[in-house]
Amino acid sequence: MKQSLLFVKTAKDAPKDEQSFNAQILMRAGFIDKLGAGIYTFLPFGLRVLNKINNIVREEINKVGGQEILMPALNPKEVWEKTNRWATFDALFRLKGNDEKEYALGATHEEIVTPLAKKFILSYKDLPFAIYQIQTKFRNEKRAKAGLLRGREFVMKDLYSFHISQEDLDNYYETVKQAYYKIYERLGLSDITYLTYASGGAFSKYSHEFQTVTEMGEDSIYVCDKCKVAVNKEIIAEQSTCPVCGAKDLIEKRAIEVGNIFKLGTKFSNAFEITYQDQNGDMKEIVMGCYGFGPSRVMGTIAEIFHDDKGLLWPEAIAPFKIHLLSLNQNEEAEKVYQTLTAKGIEVLYDDRDLPAGQKFFDADLIGCPYRLVIGKSFVNSQKLELKKRGLNAKEELLTLAEILLKF
Ligand code: ATP
Ligand code: MG
Repeated sequence: MKQSLLFVKTAKDAPKDEQSFNAQILMRAGFIDKLGAGIYTFLPFGLRVLNKINNIVREEINKVGGQEILMPALNPKEVWEKTNRWATFDALFRLKGNDEKEYALGATHEEIVTPLAKKFILSYKDLPFAIYQIQTKFRNEKRAKAGLLRGREFVMKDLYSFHISQEDLDNYYETVKQAYYKIYERLGLSDITYLTYASGGAFSKYSHEFQTVTEMGEDSIYVCDKCKVAVNKEIIAEQSTCPVCGAKDLIEKRAIEVGNIFKLGTKFSNAFEITYQDQNGDMKEIVMGCYGFGPSRVMGTIAEIFHDDKGLLWPEAIAPFKIHLLSLNQNEEAEKVYQTLTAKGIEVLYDDRDLPAGQKFFDADLIGCPYRLVIGKSFVNSQKLELKKRGLNAKEELLTLAEILLKF
């Protein structure tokens, strides 16, 4: 992508009406724009990052048999009444259609997915299966002051699984847990993300959250560093030792919930009367699980964690571009380099703007692509470009284009 053609520009100062660090830096760097509290537009760079996060999640959930669908965000009131959540789900956006019918904007989709599954389940032969979507959710969050960490409109991956027995659910739940570990590993968050024991509802002692440690986090967790697990403060009364090794010396940390997995049991299958016929012809209850993940919250979390005083430091797997190519008055040569790299399938942001070098360096640090490639005077003298990894104090390497091609 050529920066001269981009309609978005970076900004020197943080917008005054935004308090959260993640939204401030993402707005300054041109990744998102704010429409209102908890409501953001994803601009070209931001959408590239979000799509990369979504694709990592998609790949790992597909591997554990998830079948992707897309459910409506506009939900008739009746389905939410079936579970009594029309009245009890605090953050539900409720609205009237012009036919006097009432609707909710989807805040989560158990009420949609359960009657959907019912249409296709007759007998044990139709089970198990798991379906998911990556979709915009709406919640009338009271405090929407944490940028992408708490949107009123945000992106969620929600997976739901349907089973003939608790045992089958338990097995699948473990499989999904492993898939989540893989996702956080690919996102570069493994080291600071803890499987966290939280309260579980009627069907299991615990649910599990994935909590990423950051000062900006709204939750408090108690960490056992030896076992890499934690307990949510909300249940610490019940579980004050490490649930794995029993250690008592847990350390309190601030964290943000970036995903959670939950055994729903028969709560929703009973509400929607969904059953299956077993091998003996008897009608049995279906057991469900649900597995949430917040791609837009993860993007905000990564901005909170991976930055320095100059700007963002994207992990390679989700960076908007791999290389930021800066031309310092060498546009003709740089154009060739840009064409060569992109032809090789490398994602390059090419700063071909008619601006002083200082401005280009400033923006490159702010935007935070993993590699900066400068084509300036040394190219005229020695055919060499300057390659520098973002965030390292290491000196630039002087390399020919051929050498660079070997590296990527
Ligand atoms: P929280 O306690 O932080 O409000 P939650 O328990 O309401 O989260 P779920 O309803 O289980 O979360 O949603 C699944 C995932 O969606 C969460 O793990 C989180 O990553 C993401 N998520 C939830 N609410 C928001 C929000 N307001 N903005 C951005 N992401 C969110
Ligand atoms: Mg919530």
